[in-house]
Amino acid sequence: MISVMADMNESQANLLCKSCGLCCTGHLFIWAKLRPSELDPAESLGLTVFRSNPTERGFSQPCPLWQGQCTVYDSPHYPHVCRSYKCKLLKDVIAENTSLPNALTVIEQAKEMIREVESLLPDSAEVNFRQRLVTELEEVNGLARTDAEFRSKAEALLEFYEKVFGVDDLVERTDEFLE
Ligand code: SF4
Repeated sequence: MISVMADMNESQANLLCKSCGLCCTGHLFIWAKLRPSELDPAESLGLTVFRSNPTERGFSQPCPLWQGQCTVYDSPHYPHVCRSYKCKLLKDVIAENTSLPNALTVIEQAKEMIREVESLLPDSAEVNFRQRLVTELEEVNGLARTDAEFRSKAEALLEFYEKVFGVDDLVERTDEFLE
């Protein structure tokens, strides 16, 4: 998500998020939560909204509104989760625990790891990378098939997600978005 913080140089935040986009493209998350009042507006923006389960209302990823950057950032219907979400890496840059150049290098490292895992995934009609990763890991861990290289690279990627981005779930959410 592209988040602009008052206490961070806006161009640095934009550069970091535009260089990444992984929280919009389905590489980190399968879906993102929406507030009840956001469901119709989000649908009108072009998001793929699902709402039948009250505890799982949101939009699926990859987000069609990511075109190298978010194309609805200025919309009044811009989802709260998108405005609020900050991955751990972004928080670390804001807190000056790491520099922007270092963060950009880390993002490239993540993308290279993703490319390697993706090259080992079987063809699928599923468009969400994280879902494909989960499905394949279940297959491998369930011993339906054995693929040591895939297992090792996939597990390393998930550890990287948690350590660098603070992502250990399949859903993009913020703590404060529920109405
Ligand atoms: S609307 Fe889509 S592209 Fe824009 S920040 Fe949210 S998930 Fe990303």
